[in-house]
Amino acid sequence: MALFQLPTGTYETRAAFAFKGGSFRDKRRFAATAVLVRHPSGDLLIDAGFGSQVGAHIQSLPRYERAPYELIRSASAQLKASGYDLGHLRGVLVTHAHWDHVSGLADLQVPILMNAGELEYSGGNRGGRVFRSVSAEHRIDRYQFNGPPYLGFPASFDVYGDGSVVVVPAPGHTTGSVVVFVTLPTGQRYAFIGDLTWQLDGIRRRAERPLVLRMLADSDPRMLREDLLRVIALAGAMHIVPAHDVSAYDGIPLLGD
Ligand SMILES: [Zn+2]
Repeated sequence: MALFQLPTGTYETRAAFAFKGGSFRDKRRFAATAVLVRHPSGDLLIDAGFGSQVGAHIQSLPRYERAPYELIRSASAQLKASGYDLGHLRGVLVTHAHWDHVSGLADLQVPILMNAGELEYSGGNRGGRVFRSVSAEHRIDRYQFNGPPYLGFPASFDVYGDGSVVVVPAPGHTTGSVVVFVTLPTGQRYAFIGDLTWQLDGIRRRAERPLVLRMLADSDPRMLREDLLRVIALAGAMHIVPAHDVSAYDGIPLLGD
């Protein structure tokens, strides 16, 4: 079993919009990075990052959400360039259905692993628009949180049944958002927390998003706060990876390494 990062691109946001106390002059590059989990029973991507059509996806967003972006290389292109056999890829497990996490699905003909809450969110919500267009041709493998409480979260889904990849519900950003816990055979542990917070500052400084952004971006800010505090409590025991913090992926090898 092994973990790789596939940085597909970045987009620009001012820190003032990213977390409470952030400066307006401090521009942050937000990562759009997919993570490959290699596992003897079939590999998974956690999120898909930017795909080859990301320009069109950004154009379809409301004007205030559009941002300068850079496409590095889609997950699909990186997998192919490294000689990866796509037959090993069992599916893409999405932390949630927002455009910056699913754009790359358009280039990947594999199933999407999703829970009922996020399927419902993405089916009806404006934030699910890009997902609806890129997922149309995909099989959806719907999973349920039928496992026991896990690390303070009320229920869990153990993807492989061996504890190596455990998904827990963290509704708040979207109604079906999740945190994905990965434990490697080396004992190294990771929590891929999606958009519970956008930057590591959110973990280190316990800073939430600014109020207006919480209202705009989060389905349930109170629930999000609870889940963020749960994750902050775990920060000493594992590597916490907010989806959009470029430096949070440090230490996870690139596919070509
Ligand atoms: Zn996001």
